[in-house]
Amino acid sequence: MNIQLFKPKFRNEEIIPLIEECLDKGWTGLGFKTVEIEEKWKEYTKLPFAHFINSNTSGLHLAVKILKDVNKWKDGDEIITSPLTFVSSNHAIVYENLTPVFADIDEYLCLDPNSIESKITKKTRAIMFIGIGGNAGQLNSVIEIAKKHKLKVILDAAHMSGTFIKNPHTGEIKHAGHNVDVSVFSYQAVKNLPTADSGMLCFNNEDYDSLARKLSWLGIDKDTFQRTNSKGSYKWEYDLVDVGYKYHGNSIMASIALVSLKYLEEDNSRRREICDRYEESFSKNGIQTVKIHKDTVVPSRHLYQIVVKQRNKFMELLNSDGVFPGVHYRDNTNYKMYEESYGTCPNSHQLSEQLISLPLHMYMTDEEVQYVIDSVIKINKIIE
Ligand SMILES: *Cc1c(COP(=O)(O)O)cnc(C)c1O
Repeated sequence: MNIQLFKPKFRNEEIIPLIEECLDKGWTGLGFKTVEIEEKWKEYTKLPFAHFINSNTSGLHLAVKILKDVNKWKDGDEIITSPLTFVSSNHAIVYENLTPVFADIDEYLCLDPNSIESKITKKTRAIMFIGIGGNAGQLNSVIEIAKKHKLKVILDAAHMSGTFIKNPHTGEIKHAGHNVDVSVFSYQAVKNLPTADSGMLCFNNEDYDSLARKLSWLGIDKDTFQRTNSKGSYKWEYDLVDVGYKYHGNSIMASIALVSLKYLEEDNSRRREICDRYEESFSKNGIQTVKIHKDTVVPSRHLYQIVVKQRNKFMELLNSDGVFPGVHYRDNTNYKMYEESYGTCPNSHQLSEQLISLPLHMYMTDEEVQYVIDSVIKINKIIE
């Protein structure tokens, strides 16, 4: 057996003609297919704005930068964030000379609203919320806290393509990102909507969205030129008002994304089916699993995580059975750059030593799912 954690599934026969179209047309960059994927993503999620970018990481950076610039935050202002995440979420804060303040996580591995409240200071400007595994955890309560304290909410939605959340007050069920200031999705190869590297930056405000478009293309602003130059516009003339980055997506990635988006619902259903099998067997066998919060009515199920004693030993035994799971994530306060915060988030610290993400991908057969289940149950007995 050799069952890996992730294996992206691409529909080559549908992707290749779209890429060929780009190559034949001689248009592989910004525009063309990037416009199409933005339109299709908005149609699917009903989010008002979507800007296709070259990764979730660059999108998070732009999200933080734009909120900082527009709202005149100062260097050293604080964003409350989670220690249990991929390094990108917190790098985005540090890129902009802001301070990540770590709050602890709850049983859903997402930020705990109570812990957030205890970390708010005069310098707090925003909350960086990470929807781990496609689970929105207590995001709805976190949004209430943010409103009360006039904080912005940035959603690292890297795992949340296809996650739909219920608003407990209105009963509405909407795609992740609808009720935050900005959400950033990842279309990296192992995520639910695979390309090679790309993502979507979704502001809920038109001015922020146009700023994002400008800053993702080196700060070049054709619109400003057109507004300020009444003699009309030459294609080669544009204004530059700000330093920007090279963060926009391209038409080759967009071609892959268009096909992956078409299959997102189907793929996520299969993910949920695998997770339901895991859940049913493990609950009968006393294995602790990470539950989905009830507000996350449709979870994307990017990850399926169990909580075990002696995690490293457990992993070794799984490996010797030919099962190769992963860990999401190492508590970021274990890293040298955040050592000052070490020990401030006990739940995150403990869970980070106990979590295992089991194999979950489109190539897994039912037999392989059963093999993983049997192996986990067997090893759990040995270790207990
Ligand atoms: C993958 C991931 C990212 C980074 O996404 P890229 O598109 O690779 O930049 C950020 N945050 C989380 C939680 C992730 O899993």
